[in-house]
Amino acid sequence: MLDMLKNVLSNLIHKPVTRKYPFEKREPFERARGHIKNDIDKCILCGICQRVCPSNCIQVNRKEGKWVFQPFECVICGACVENCPTKSLKMEAEYRAVSNEKYEIVHKKEVKNPPTKDKKEVA
Ligand code: SF4
Ligand code: SF4
Repeated sequence: MLDMLKNVLSNLIHKPVTRKYPFEKREPFERARGHIKNDIDKCILCGICQRVCPSNCIQVNRKEGKWVFQPFECVICGACVENCPTKSLKMEAEYRAVSNEKYEIVHKKEVKNPPTKDKKEVA
């Protein structure tokens, strides 16, 4: 009973240990992975990130010049970043914008010699 009373009094005089995110943000920890970002100018739409992604949240369509990412499916393993040959993919430690709805991130770029056959980019 005394222990509980001590806790109650302590909680009354101390600030809450939680933060009112997104109004109060905590600085990311050192080596925090955050989320992935693609510098589409460096991306060659090779499809390696799609092949190595364990949660299937990247789709690359070289014919249409599209790189699509579903951030809410990503498990932040970093495999795509490690294997990207042009280093266009990076882990950013900052928080992703809050959202009430799932959304996808779509990057488009012009492809000089798109594949002519109508086939899936990555088997
Ligand atoms: S691995 Fe890198 S260069 Fe290749 S499609 Fe993915 S982001 Fe683009
Ligand atoms: S970090 Fe992992 S799960 Fe997320 S997109 Fe890259 S490979 Fe897929």
